[in-house]
Amino acid sequence: MMKRFLAAIFAAALSAPLAAQDTPDLEMWRLDCGTIDLSDSESFSDAHLYDGQPRTLTVSCYLIRNGGRYILWDTGLSSQLLGTSFTSGAFTVSLERTITDQLAQLGISPADVTYAAASHYHFDHTGQLADFPEATLLIGAADWEVVKATPEPNPLVDPRPFAPWLSEEAAPVTAIGQDHDVFGDGSVLIKAMPGHTPGHTSLLVRLPEKGDVLLTGDLYHFEEQVTNRGVPQFNTNRADTLASMERFNAIAKSLDATVIIQHDARHLDRLPAFPESAK
Ligand SMILES: [Zn+2]
Repeated sequence: MMKRFLAAIFAAALSAPLAAQDTPDLEMWRLDCGTIDLSDSESFSDAHLYDGQPRTLTVSCYLIRNGGRYILWDTGLSSQLLGTSFTSGAFTVSLERTITDQLAQLGISPADVTYAAASHYHFDHTGQLADFPEATLLIGAADWEVVKATPEPNPLVDPRPFAPWLSEEAAPVTAIGQDHDVFGDGSVLIKAMPGHTPGHTSLLVRLPEKGDVLLTGDLYHFEEQVTNRGVPQFNTNRADTLASMERFNAIAKSLDATVIIQHDARHLDRLPAFPESAK
């Protein structure tokens, strides 16, 4: 009797549609969210590693679909820059296409975006947030505290794109204390990587075909920082940055993940070129 019971259990377990349940329907696009030309990369190391080096940083955003839900990871430079450029000190920023324009090409409207995430509060990661006012904002809790405590824009924090989540009838906010499973199925995981800002985060996307993809946020801005541990002068905590680099590298190694430094144009070919997607 017991034997037959166990056999029935095993048969049921084996015939369950495991594949359909366990393999999320995932798709990922890289979006163009602008360009930053640096006349001097001095500020990207507090140890004079890059003094006098000019550099071009690409600004990337990412769209990930899980079934019928979408998360937008970072929202790039402000659409007020569209077709023009702005220079402040060593930084010249420009934008050729908006996110909403690129989503329209995919047949996706802003209202389809369930989650709008900011890897951190810097202006080049939050510029077009307010184009997604119905989305739930995902942001590191310590960064959210800074945004709420910054009524006027400064060179690094601009609270204006956060207006839909700061107003009286605010849209929902998920302030992330540690790691966060976005869809609750283990497919898209926000990883706390503090140091660049107090609530800075990176993203792990577990694609069924391509495999694990790790987006840095701004833990690194270019490959040289991985090699020689370049810590920007404007980071909020040096020790936290180094600890986050160590954790990030360990995750990448144990999962054999594809690492994408979001600002490094040499990593653009690690995902298909828009409008193609990775699955
Ligand atoms: Zn950045």
